[in-house]
Amino acid sequence: MLKYDILILGGGPSGLSTALHLVQTDPHLAPRILILEKAHYPRLKLCAGGLVIDAEIILERLGLDVREVPHVDVDSAHFDFAGKGLTIRVPKRHAIRVIRRNEFDSWLAQKTRETGIEIREGITVKNVIPEKDSVTVETDQGEFHAEMVIGSDGSNGVTRRSIFPNAPISTARVLEVITPVGQNAILSHKSKDAYFDFFPVPDNIAGYVWDFPTQINGEAMRCWGIYDTNLLADGARPALKEPLAEEMARHGFNLNDYEVKGHPIRWYNPQNQISAPRVLLVGDAAGADPIFGEGISIALGYGAIAAREISESFRRNEFSFSRYRRRLARSGLGQTLYVRWFITHIIYPIKWKWFQILLWRIVKPIVLILAWIFVLNWSKRIK
Ligand SMILES: Cc1cc2nc3c(=O)[nH]c(=O)nc-3n(C[C@H](O)[C@H](O)[C@H](O)COP(=O)(O)OP(=O)(O)OC[C@H]3O[C@@H](n4cnc5c(N)ncnc54)[C@H](O)[C@@H]3O)c2cc1C
Repeated sequence: MLKYDILILGGGPSGLSTALHLVQTDPHLAPRILILEKAHYPRLKLCAGGLVIDAEIILERLGLDVREVPHVDVDSAHFDFAGKGLTIRVPKRHAIRVIRRNEFDSWLAQKTRETGIEIREGITVKNVIPEKDSVTVETDQGEFHAEMVIGSDGSNGVTRRSIFPNAPISTARVLEVITPVGQNAILSHKSKDAYFDFFPVPDNIAGYVWDFPTQINGEAMRCWGIYDTNLLADGARPALKEPLAEEMARHGFNLNDYEVKGHPIRWYNPQNQISAPRVLLVGDAAGADPIFGEGISIALGYGAIAAREISESFRRNEFSFSRYRRRLARSGLGQTLYVRWFITHIIYPIKWKWFQILLWRIVKPIVLILAWIFVLNWSKRIK
Protein backbone atom coordinates (compact mmCIF):
# COMPACT_ATOMS: atom_id res chain seq x y z
CA MET A 1 0.00 0.00 0.00
CA LEU A 2 1.51 3.33 -1.11
CA LYS A 3 1.24 5.90 1.66
CA TYR A 4 2.07 9.60 1.33
CA ASP A 5 2.77 12.00 4.15
CA ILE A 6 0.70 14.86 2.74
CA LEU A 7 -2.07 14.60 0.16
CA ILE A 8 -3.32 17.93 -1.18
CA LEU A 9 -6.75 17.56 -2.77
CA GLY A 10 -7.21 20.27 -5.42
CA GLY A 11 -4.56 22.19 -7.34
CA GLY A 12 -5.97 25.73 -7.25
CA PRO A 13 -4.25 28.68 -5.49
CA SER A 14 -4.93 27.38 -1.96
CA GLY A 15 -3.55 23.87 -2.55
CA LEU A 16 -0.55 25.07 -4.57
CA SER A 17 0.22 27.80 -2.02
CA THR A 18 0.13 25.24 0.82
CA ALA A 19 2.60 23.07 -1.08
CA LEU A 20 4.90 25.99 -1.96
CA HIS A 21 4.95 27.29 1.62
CA LEU A 22 5.69 23.81 2.96
CA VAL A 23 8.75 23.34 0.78
CA GLN A 24 9.90 26.89 1.41
CA THR A 25 10.36 26.10 5.11
CA ASP A 26 10.95 22.32 4.85
CA PRO A 27 12.45 21.52 1.41
CA HIS A 28 12.91 17.86 2.42
CA LEU A 29 9.08 17.49 2.39
CA ALA A 30 8.86 17.86 -1.43
CA PRO A 31 8.96 14.12 -2.27
CA ARG A 32 6.50 13.42 0.54
CA ILE A 33 3.72 15.61 -0.91
CA LEU A 34 1.26 14.61 -3.64
CA ILE A 35 -1.32 16.96 -5.17
CA LEU A 36 -4.41 15.42 -6.80
CA GLU A 37 -6.22 17.64 -9.32
CA LYS A 38 -9.34 16.53 -11.17
CA ALA A 39 -8.77 18.74 -14.22
CA HIS A 40 -5.81 19.21 -16.59
CA TYR A 41 -3.91 22.50 -16.68
CA PRO A 42 -4.56 24.96 -18.14
CA ARG A 43 -8.06 24.35 -16.77
CA LEU A 44 -10.98 26.72 -16.83
CA LYS A 45 -11.98 28.32 -13.52
CA LEU A 46 -14.81 30.82 -13.41
CA CYS A 47 -13.23 33.89 -11.80
CA ALA A 48 -12.75 37.56 -12.68
CA GLY A 49 -9.05 37.16 -11.81
CA GLY A 50 -8.62 40.40 -9.80
CA LEU A 51 -5.45 40.16 -7.70
CA VAL A 52 -5.16 42.59 -4.80
CA ILE A 53 -1.87 43.72 -3.34
CA ASP A 54 -1.85 40.97 -0.68
CA ALA A 55 -1.80 38.23 -3.33
CA GLU A 56 1.29 39.79 -4.87
CA ILE A 57 3.03 40.20 -1.50
CA ILE A 58 2.52 36.51 -0.69
CA LEU A 59 3.76 35.43 -4.13
CA GLU A 60 6.80 37.72 -3.83
CA ARG A 61 7.67 36.09 -0.50
CA LEU A 62 7.61 32.74 -2.28
CA GLY A 63 10.08 34.21 -4.79
CA LEU A 64 7.43 34.36 -7.54
CA ASP A 65 6.82 37.21 -9.96
CA VAL A 66 3.22 37.26 -11.18
CA ARG A 67 4.19 39.59 -14.03
CA GLU A 68 5.31 36.40 -15.82
CA VAL A 69 1.56 35.67 -16.28
CA PRO A 70 -0.39 37.64 -18.94
CA HIS A 71 -2.21 40.40 -17.05
CA VAL A 72 -3.91 43.79 -17.19
CA ASP A 73 -3.08 46.46 -14.64
CA VAL A 74 -6.07 48.39 -13.32
CA ASP A 75 -5.23 52.04 -12.61
CA SER A 76 -8.18 52.82 -10.30
CA ALA A 77 -10.91 50.81 -8.61
CA HIS A 78 -14.28 52.59 -8.24
CA PHE A 79 -16.72 51.63 -5.48
CA ASP A 80 -20.02 53.23 -6.43
CA PHE A 81 -23.68 53.42 -5.68
CA ALA A 82 -25.57 53.96 -8.96
CA GLY A 83 -22.54 55.27 -10.84
CA LYS A 84 -21.02 57.59 -8.19
CA GLY A 85 -18.78 56.85 -5.24
CA LEU A 86 -15.19 56.53 -4.08
CA THR A 87 -12.05 55.70 -6.01
CA ILE A 88 -9.03 53.74 -4.82
CA ARG A 89 -5.63 54.39 -6.37
CA VAL A 90 -2.39 53.01 -4.98
CA PRO A 91 0.52 55.46 -5.23
CA LYS A 92 3.10 54.43 -7.84
CA ARG A 93 1.44 51.10 -8.61
CA HIS A 94 -1.72 49.52 -9.96
CA ALA A 95 -4.85 49.19 -7.79
CA ILE A 96 -5.61 45.62 -8.95
CA ARG A 97 -3.86 43.27 -11.37
CA VAL A 98 -6.17 41.11 -13.49
CA ILE A 99 -5.09 37.65 -14.63
CA ARG A 100 -6.98 34.79 -16.27
CA ARG A 101 -7.21 31.80 -13.96
CA ASN A 102 -6.35 29.18 -16.60
CA GLU A 103 -3.03 30.97 -17.13
CA PHE A 104 -2.37 31.90 -13.49
CA ASP A 105 -3.13 28.46 -12.00
CA SER A 106 -1.14 26.67 -14.67
CA TRP A 107 1.84 28.98 -14.00
CA LEU A 108 1.56 28.37 -10.24
CA ALA A 109 1.33 24.60 -10.81
CA GLN A 110 4.48 24.75 -12.95
CA LYS A 111 6.32 26.67 -10.19
CA THR A 112 5.15 24.03 -7.69
CA ARG A 113 6.44 21.19 -9.89
CA GLU A 114 9.80 22.96 -10.19
CA THR A 115 10.25 22.50 -6.43
CA GLY A 116 10.04 18.71 -6.88
CA ILE A 117 6.41 18.28 -5.80
CA GLU A 118 4.32 15.84 -7.83
CA ILE A 119 0.92 16.90 -9.18
CA ARG A 120 -1.31 14.22 -10.68
CA GLU A 121 -3.92 15.66 -13.01
CA GLY A 122 -7.17 14.03 -14.10
CA ILE A 123 -7.88 12.33 -10.74
CA THR A 124 -11.23 13.10 -9.09
CA VAL A 125 -11.54 12.65 -5.35
CA LYS A 126 -14.80 10.93 -4.37
CA ASN A 127 -14.55 10.55 -0.61
CA VAL A 128 -12.21 11.31 2.30
CA ILE A 129 -12.18 9.00 5.31
CA PRO A 130 -10.02 9.95 8.31
CA GLU A 131 -8.93 6.99 10.45
CA LYS A 132 -6.92 6.75 13.64
CA ASP A 133 -3.48 6.43 12.04
CA SER A 134 -4.04 7.70 8.50
CA VAL A 135 -6.54 9.09 6.01
CA THR A 136 -8.00 7.14 3.09
CA VAL A 137 -8.86 9.10 -0.03
CA GLU A 138 -11.13 7.34 -2.54
CA THR A 139 -10.79 8.56 -6.11
CA ASP A 140 -11.99 7.55 -9.57
CA GLN A 141 -8.57 5.91 -9.94
CA GLY A 142 -8.33 3.94 -6.74
CA GLU A 143 -7.46 4.63 -3.12
CA PHE A 144 -4.68 6.81 -1.74
CA HIS A 145 -3.49 6.81 1.88
CA ALA A 146 -1.75 9.60 3.76
CA GLU A 147 -0.72 10.83 7.21
CA MET A 148 -2.79 13.94 6.53
CA VAL A 149 -4.98 15.54 3.91
CA ILE A 150 -5.41 19.18 2.86
CA GLY A 151 -8.85 19.95 1.45
CA SER A 152 -8.17 22.62 -1.19
CA ASP A 153 -10.92 21.54 -3.54
CA GLY A 154 -12.91 24.77 -3.59
CA SER A 155 -16.40 25.92 -2.67
CA ASN A 156 -18.15 22.65 -3.62
CA GLY A 157 -15.27 20.53 -2.30
CA VAL A 158 -15.67 16.85 -1.54
CA THR A 159 -13.26 17.05 1.41
CA ARG A 160 -15.47 19.39 3.44
CA ARG A 161 -18.59 17.47 2.49
CA SER A 162 -16.97 14.15 3.55
CA ILE A 163 -15.71 15.46 6.90
CA PHE A 164 -18.57 17.77 7.88
CA PRO A 165 -21.60 16.45 5.96
CA ASN A 166 -24.14 18.34 8.05
CA ALA A 167 -22.31 21.62 8.67
CA PRO A 168 -24.27 24.77 7.72
CA ILE A 169 -22.78 26.62 4.77
CA SER A 170 -22.74 30.29 3.82
CA THR A 171 -22.56 30.53 0.08
CA ALA A 172 -22.73 33.43 -2.35
CA ARG A 173 -24.19 33.27 -5.86
CA VAL A 174 -22.03 34.69 -8.64
CA LEU A 175 -22.60 35.21 -12.38
CA GLU A 176 -19.92 36.21 -14.87
CA VAL A 177 -19.90 37.38 -18.51
CA ILE A 178 -17.00 38.18 -20.85
CA THR A 179 -17.50 40.72 -23.64
CA PRO A 180 -15.33 42.56 -26.12
CA VAL A 181 -14.30 46.05 -24.98
CA GLY A 182 -16.99 47.84 -27.03
CA GLN A 183 -16.94 51.46 -28.13
CA ASN A 184 -19.70 52.57 -25.74
CA ALA A 185 -17.92 51.03 -22.79
CA ILE A 186 -14.78 52.99 -23.64
CA LEU A 187 -16.75 56.22 -23.79
CA SER A 188 -18.68 55.63 -20.57
CA HIS A 189 -15.92 54.01 -18.51
CA LYS A 190 -12.19 54.46 -18.34
CA SER A 191 -10.88 51.36 -20.09
CA LYS A 192 -8.16 50.62 -17.49
CA ASP A 193 -10.42 51.07 -14.45
CA ALA A 194 -12.42 48.51 -12.48
CA TYR A 195 -15.95 49.28 -11.28
CA PHE A 196 -17.94 47.83 -8.39
CA ASP A 197 -21.49 49.17 -8.09
CA PHE A 198 -23.71 48.39 -5.12
CA PHE A 199 -26.96 49.64 -6.71
CA PRO A 200 -28.67 46.19 -6.39
CA VAL A 201 -28.50 46.20 -2.54
CA PRO A 202 -31.87 47.95 -1.94
CA ASP A 203 -33.41 45.18 -4.12
CA ASN A 204 -32.27 42.49 -1.66
CA ILE A 205 -29.09 41.55 -3.47
CA ALA A 206 -26.40 41.70 -0.80
CA GLY A 207 -23.54 42.40 -3.16
CA TYR A 208 -22.57 44.35 -6.25
CA VAL A 209 -22.19 44.36 -10.02
CA TRP A 210 -18.62 44.51 -11.36
CA ASP A 211 -16.93 45.47 -14.60
CA PHE A 212 -13.17 44.82 -15.03
CA PRO A 213 -10.74 45.10 -17.91
CA THR A 214 -9.19 41.76 -18.78
CA GLN A 215 -7.46 40.05 -21.70
CA ILE A 216 -7.93 36.76 -23.46
CA ASN A 217 -5.05 35.51 -25.61
CA GLY A 218 -3.66 39.04 -25.60
CA GLU A 219 -6.91 40.68 -26.78
CA ALA A 220 -8.44 43.36 -24.55
CA MET A 221 -11.84 42.27 -23.17
CA ARG A 222 -14.15 43.18 -20.29
CA CYS A 223 -15.32 40.89 -17.52
CA TRP A 224 -18.74 41.68 -15.99
CA GLY A 225 -20.47 39.96 -13.14
CA ILE A 226 -22.75 40.08 -10.14
CA TYR A 227 -22.10 38.86 -6.61
CA ASP A 228 -24.75 38.14 -3.96
CA THR A 229 -23.82 36.85 -0.49
CA ASN A 230 -27.44 35.67 -0.13
CA LEU A 231 -27.64 37.50 3.21
CA LEU A 232 -30.85 39.27 2.22
CA ALA A 233 -32.37 36.35 0.34
CA ASP A 234 -34.80 35.34 3.08
CA GLY A 235 -36.21 32.33 1.23
CA ALA A 236 -36.95 34.04 -2.11
CA ARG A 237 -33.74 34.74 -3.99
CA PRO A 238 -33.95 37.75 -6.30
CA ALA A 239 -32.92 37.04 -9.91
CA LEU A 240 -29.34 38.14 -10.60
CA LYS A 241 -29.54 38.47 -14.36
CA GLU A 242 -31.75 41.57 -14.37
CA PRO A 243 -29.41 43.95 -12.49
CA LEU A 244 -26.44 42.64 -14.45
CA ALA A 245 -28.32 43.17 -17.72
CA GLU A 246 -29.30 46.67 -16.54
CA GLU A 247 -25.69 47.64 -15.82
CA MET A 248 -24.42 46.20 -19.09
CA ALA A 249 -27.18 47.95 -21.05
CA ARG A 250 -26.05 51.28 -19.55
CA HIS A 251 -22.73 50.68 -21.29
CA GLY A 252 -24.15 49.51 -24.60
CA PHE A 253 -24.14 45.71 -24.13
CA ASN A 254 -27.03 43.27 -24.38
CA LEU A 255 -26.54 40.48 -21.83
CA ASN A 256 -28.50 38.08 -24.06
CA ASP A 257 -25.73 38.28 -26.69
CA TYR A 258 -23.24 36.64 -24.33
CA GLU A 259 -22.78 33.41 -22.42
CA VAL A 260 -23.56 33.78 -18.70
CA LYS A 261 -21.79 31.41 -16.31
CA GLY A 262 -22.40 30.92 -12.60
CA HIS A 263 -20.54 29.41 -9.67
CA PRO A 264 -21.00 29.62 -5.87
CA ILE A 265 -18.40 31.03 -3.47
CA ARG A 266 -18.34 29.63 0.05
CA TRP A 267 -17.56 32.55 2.33
CA TYR A 268 -15.91 32.79 5.71
CA ASN A 269 -18.06 32.58 8.78
CA PRO A 270 -16.38 32.34 12.22
CA GLN A 271 -18.51 29.23 12.82
CA ASN A 272 -17.11 27.37 9.79
CA GLN A 273 -15.38 24.14 10.79
CA ILE A 274 -11.96 24.20 9.17
CA SER A 275 -10.16 21.13 10.52
CA ALA A 276 -10.61 17.64 11.90
CA PRO A 277 -7.93 15.23 13.09
CA ARG A 278 -5.58 14.65 10.10
CA VAL A 279 -7.61 16.99 7.82
CA LEU A 280 -7.16 20.73 7.17
CA LEU A 281 -9.31 22.91 4.93
CA VAL A 282 -7.85 25.86 3.00
CA GLY A 283 -9.12 28.43 0.48
CA ASP A 284 -12.80 28.42 -0.49
CA ALA A 285 -13.24 25.07 1.29
CA ALA A 286 -12.56 26.99 4.53
CA GLY A 287 -14.17 30.29 3.45
CA ALA A 288 -13.40 33.26 1.18
CA ASP A 289 -14.00 36.97 1.76
CA PRO A 290 -17.72 37.58 2.33
CA ILE A 291 -17.83 41.27 1.29
CA PHE A 292 -16.59 40.90 -2.28
CA GLY A 293 -16.09 37.15 -2.76
CA GLU A 294 -12.41 37.99 -3.14
CA GLY A 295 -10.66 34.66 -2.70
CA ILE A 296 -7.35 34.41 -4.57
CA SER A 297 -5.23 36.35 -2.06
CA ILE A 298 -7.18 34.66 0.74
CA ALA A 299 -6.47 31.20 -0.74
CA LEU A 300 -2.75 32.02 -0.99
CA GLY A 301 -2.84 33.23 2.64
CA TYR A 302 -4.51 30.06 3.92
CA GLY A 303 -1.65 28.15 2.30
CA ALA A 304 0.90 30.02 4.43
CA ILE A 305 -0.99 29.38 7.68
CA ALA A 306 -1.73 25.72 6.90
CA ALA A 307 1.92 25.06 6.01
CA ARG A 308 3.03 26.34 9.40
CA GLU A 309 0.46 24.17 11.16
CA ILE A 310 1.57 21.10 9.18
CA SER A 311 5.30 21.68 9.81
CA GLU A 312 4.66 21.92 13.52
CA SER A 313 2.48 18.83 13.49
CA PHE A 314 5.33 16.86 11.93
CA ARG A 315 7.77 18.15 14.51
CA ARG A 316 5.43 17.08 17.32
CA ASN A 317 4.28 13.94 15.45
CA GLU A 318 0.72 14.88 16.40
CA PHE A 319 -1.95 15.50 13.77
CA SER A 320 -5.06 16.65 15.61
CA PHE A 321 -4.74 20.14 14.04
CA SER A 322 -6.46 21.46 17.12
CA ARG A 323 -4.35 24.66 16.96
CA TYR A 324 -5.25 25.54 13.36
CA ARG A 325 -8.34 27.64 14.16
CA ARG A 326 -6.45 29.67 16.79
CA ARG A 327 -3.45 30.08 14.47
CA LEU A 328 -5.75 31.42 11.74
CA ALA A 329 -7.61 33.73 14.14
CA ARG A 330 -4.35 35.30 15.35
CA SER A 331 -2.98 35.88 11.86
CA GLY A 332 -3.55 38.89 9.63
CA LEU A 333 -5.64 36.60 7.41
CA GLY A 334 -7.91 35.51 10.26
CA GLN A 335 -8.27 39.10 11.43
CA THR A 336 -9.20 40.45 8.00
CA LEU A 337 -11.67 37.59 7.44
CA TYR A 338 -13.33 38.26 10.78
CA VAL A 339 -13.56 42.02 10.16
CA ARG A 340 -14.85 41.45 6.63
CA TRP A 341 -17.51 39.04 7.96
CA PHE A 342 -18.50 41.69 10.52
CA ILE A 343 -18.61 44.51 7.91
CA THR A 344 -20.68 42.28 5.60
CA HIS A 345 -23.34 42.07 8.31
CA ILE A 346 -23.52 45.87 8.46
CA ILE A 347 -23.19 47.15 4.91
CA TYR A 348 -25.64 44.71 3.30
CA PRO A 349 -28.47 44.34 5.85
CA ILE A 350 -28.73 48.15 6.12
CA LYS A 351 -29.92 48.01 2.58
CA TRP A 352 -31.71 51.34 2.27
CA LYS A 353 -30.68 53.61 -0.56
CA TRP A 354 -29.80 56.51 1.78
CA PHE A 355 -27.35 54.31 3.73
CA GLN A 356 -25.64 53.04 0.57
CA ILE A 357 -25.32 56.62 -0.72
CA LEU A 358 -23.91 57.70 2.65
CA LEU A 359 -21.43 54.83 2.67
CA TRP A 360 -20.01 55.04 -0.83
CA ARG A 361 -20.39 58.76 -1.57
CA ILE A 362 -20.41 60.75 1.67
CA VAL A 363 -18.21 59.10 4.32
CA LYS A 364 -15.59 58.18 1.72
CA PRO A 365 -12.48 59.05 3.80
CA ILE A 366 -13.64 56.86 6.68
CA VAL A 367 -14.40 53.95 4.36
CA LEU A 368 -11.00 54.35 2.70
CA ILE A 369 -9.13 54.35 6.02
CA LEU A 370 -11.06 51.28 7.26
CA ALA A 371 -10.41 49.47 3.97
CA TRP A 372 -6.69 50.27 4.12
CA ILE A 373 -6.38 49.02 7.71
CA PHE A 374 -8.77 46.07 7.80
CA VAL A 375 -9.33 44.86 4.25
CA LEU A 376 -5.93 45.35 2.60
CA ASN A 377 -2.36 44.84 3.82
CA TRP A 378 -3.17 41.84 6.06
CA SER A 379 -0.56 39.67 4.34
CA LYS A 380 2.19 41.60 6.13
CA ARG A 381 0.91 40.03 9.37
CA ILE A 382 0.94 36.34 8.43
CA LYS A 383 4.64 35.73 8.96
C1 LIG B 1 -17.44 34.31 -10.88
C2 LIG B 1 -16.33 34.43 -9.87
C3 LIG B 1 -15.50 35.53 -9.91
C4 LIG B 1 -14.47 35.65 -8.96
N1 LIG B 1 -13.62 36.72 -9.05
C5 LIG B 1 -12.60 36.84 -8.18
C6 LIG B 1 -11.67 37.90 -8.29
O1 LIG B 1 -11.75 38.75 -9.18
N2 LIG B 1 -10.66 37.98 -7.38
C7 LIG B 1 -10.53 37.06 -6.38
O2 LIG B 1 -9.60 37.19 -5.57
N3 LIG B 1 -11.38 36.02 -6.27
C8 LIG B 1 -12.40 35.87 -7.15
N4 LIG B 1 -13.25 34.80 -7.05
C9 LIG B 1 -13.03 33.81 -5.98
C10 LIG B 1 -11.88 32.86 -6.36
O3 LIG B 1 -12.09 32.32 -7.63
C11 LIG B 1 -11.77 31.73 -5.34
O4 LIG B 1 -11.85 32.26 -4.05
C12 LIG B 1 -10.46 30.96 -5.49
O5 LIG B 1 -10.44 30.29 -6.72
C13 LIG B 1 -10.29 29.95 -4.35
O6 LIG B 1 -9.16 29.15 -4.58
P1 LIG B 1 -9.12 27.63 -4.08
O7 LIG B 1 -7.79 27.12 -4.40
O8 LIG B 1 -9.61 27.56 -2.69
O9 LIG B 1 -10.25 26.89 -4.94
P2 LIG B 1 -10.35 26.69 -6.52
O10 LIG B 1 -9.68 27.78 -7.25
O11 LIG B 1 -11.80 26.43 -6.78
O12 LIG B 1 -9.51 25.38 -6.78
C14 LIG B 1 -9.99 24.11 -6.40
C15 LIG B 1 -9.28 23.07 -7.25
O13 LIG B 1 -9.69 21.78 -6.81
C16 LIG B 1 -10.01 20.99 -7.92
N5 LIG B 1 -11.01 20.03 -7.46
C17 LIG B 1 -12.29 20.30 -7.09
N6 LIG B 1 -12.92 19.17 -6.73
C18 LIG B 1 -12.02 18.18 -6.86
C19 LIG B 1 -12.08 16.78 -6.64
N7 LIG B 1 -13.20 16.18 -6.23
N8 LIG B 1 -10.96 16.04 -6.87
C20 LIG B 1 -9.81 16.63 -7.30
N9 LIG B 1 -9.71 17.96 -7.53
C21 LIG B 1 -10.79 18.72 -7.32
C22 LIG B 1 -10.56 21.97 -8.96
O14 LIG B 1 -10.44 21.45 -10.29
C23 LIG B 1 -9.65 23.17 -8.73
O15 LIG B 1 -8.48 23.12 -9.50
C24 LIG B 1 -14.28 34.65 -7.97
C25 LIG B 1 -15.12 33.53 -7.96
C26 LIG B 1 -16.15 33.42 -8.89
C27 LIG B 1 -17.05 32.20 -8.85
